[in-house]
Amino acid sequence: MILNDFETGWKNVFEERLVHLQKLFPNVIFTSKERFKAMLRIKATVPGDRLAQKVVDNVLHCIERDSARVCERCGKGGRRIMSEEYFSEPKTYCVNCYAIVLDEILQDLHEELSTP
Ligand SMILES: [Zn+2]
Repeated sequence: MILNDFETGWKNVFEERLVHLQKLFPNVIFTSKERFKAMLRIKATVPGDRLAQKVVDNVLHCIERDSARVCERCGKGGRRIMSEEYFSEPKTYCVNCYAIVLDEILQDLHEELSTP
């Protein structure tokens, strides 16, 4: 699995596209996969094939843009949350998942603070 390090939502929506890309261009090597500004940023190289490289770069760019509107937790429509003080970094969530994740964080924090 290419998107191992990410939550289910992004995996369910984008893994298949990446697998398809790999089938079209068997030489493709995924060099990095990260969340950047709450979007899925994937870099890849296709050694010795400049045309394939352009296609791959464009597909990865589309995935990056699309990921800004897909909840990384459940895969439904979401939006980027750029300034939530309790998140370690910006994330993309739907309203439900945002509430659930924030609640979990606050509960952990509450337990931490009430432990003598
Ligand atoms: Zn969600």
